[in-house]
Amino acid sequence: MVDCIFCKIINGEFGTKFVYEDENVVVFNDINPKADTHLLVVPKKHVTDLNECSEELIAKLMSIVKKVTVQEGIKSYRTVINTGKEAGQEVFHLHIHILSGNIKL
Ligand code: 5GP
Ligand code: ZN
Repeated sequence: MVDCIFCKIINGEFGTKFVYEDENVVVFNDINPKADTHLLVVPKKHVTDLNECSEELIAKLMSIVKKVTVQEGIKSYRTVINTGKEAGQEVFHLHIHILSGNIKL
């Protein structure tokens, strides 16, 4: 989607390093980390928020949370999904936050 920062990241426009990538999903570090580790799990397809997300996609994204935490050796972590501006969503491309260590959120 034009003017979506996460679509631009997914398209490689900023050279963002991906911690994980497959056909449908990328994972990268949050630019303004709220914990020692702060990852964002993001579908490649532009989906605005959880309200617009299929069961199949959210299941896929949660399975990637499990896969990436194992990959990164993270055993204790918090997952956050903000849905809607009033709930604190700032980027309107669905993402799951993974936070671990000294969480400030
Ligand atoms: P939200 O508040 O929408 O749930 O979370 C958006 C997150 O995206 C914030 O934690 C913010 O720091 C992060 N973010 C915003 N712009 C960028 C960016 O250009 N690159 C990266 N890596 N993270 C970003
Ligand atoms: Zn997008």
